[in-house]
Amino acid sequence: MALDENIVVLIGGVGGAKLALGLAQVVAAERLTFIVNTGDDFWHLGLKICPDLDTLMYTLSGLVDPETGWGRANDSTAALQSLATNYGFEPWFRLGDKDLATHLVRTDLLRRGHTLTDATACLTERLGIRSRLLPMTDAEMPTIIETKDHGALGFQEYFVRHRWQPIVTSIKHKDCRLAQLTTAARHALRNADIVLIAPSNPWLSLAPILAVPGLRAFLAGLPLPIVAVTPIIGGAAVKGPTAKIMSELNIEISAASVANFYRNMISGFVDDCRNEAFTANGLRILRADTLMTDLSAKTRLAREILAWIKGWTR
Ligand code: GDP
Repeated sequence: MALDENIVVLIGGVGGAKLALGLAQVVAAERLTFIVNTGDDFWHLGLKICPDLDTLMYTLSGLVDPETGWGRANDSTAALQSLATNYGFEPWFRLGDKDLATHLVRTDLLRRGHTLTDATACLTERLGIRSRLLPMTDAEMPTIIETKDHGALGFQEYFVRHRWQPIVTSIKHKDCRLAQLTTAARHALRNADIVLIAPSNPWLSLAPILAVPGLRAFLAGLPLPIVAVTPIIGGAAVKGPTAKIMSELNIEISAASVANFYRNMISGFVDDCRNEAFTANGLRILRADTLMTDLSAKTRLAREILAWIKGWTR
């Protein structure tokens, strides 16, 4: 397949990174751009931590921990242990020693006045990544989780400290009015031939990206295929709180609900062959095996999706 299209992927962390790795096998790196959720980002011990950007960076550079799908392989936690034993810090957020290097460099760049877009470009270049990783915005736009019993929680408080157990009543994007689509993201989208929405958590990973002012309208005006991939397989999430949040927000747990969440924006939807088939007005649907258990499954799915989209215009 001649893959001469520019592909932009809207993406979160671990689930999305599986498809990202598959795409990286079949698309030339310079034709691949990722617009990444930064709603999970936070400041911790004076460091700026960007979990989804880090997961993608480590995945695409081959440094990721293959067991977890996040963090660095063969990392130690000496600094974290010292923070706990010598300084009394509660080590609720895992920071590996090698991983700390990323946070230190990023924080230093930000403190010296670079934008997150520039800091990310610097990190990815050093890690030998030739695809572009773009934060969804350079402003801080933290996701706030309103919960039934614990009130409003910062994203990592909810996700890591409370292990996503609190019942979610609503999800907010703090300071989103102050954020804007970056010039780099706008440029990537303007030059895109295909936009993909990764099988990331729609409510925690994609909703923040789509809340960046102007992005939805900008996407709606693009005359190109925009295709989302289901994160729901066999009526459940592969991992993480996607299905739990859907039930707490009274959304039916199905791929159809996910497609409905992206309605008016997508022209195609990749559903999993294990899900109950559905149709939606004017929406092209590919039924495929979307479970990405290993590199060959990731690569096969990426190839199948792109071949399907290319077939639209033949
Ligand atoms: P996080 O930011 O690390 O939580 O990860 P994402 O938001 O990118 O992805 C979480 C979603 O990925 C979950 O809803 C999972 O159901 C979905 N997911 C994980 N692995 C797979 C897979 O192999 N195939 C599909 N279709 N979805 C997956």
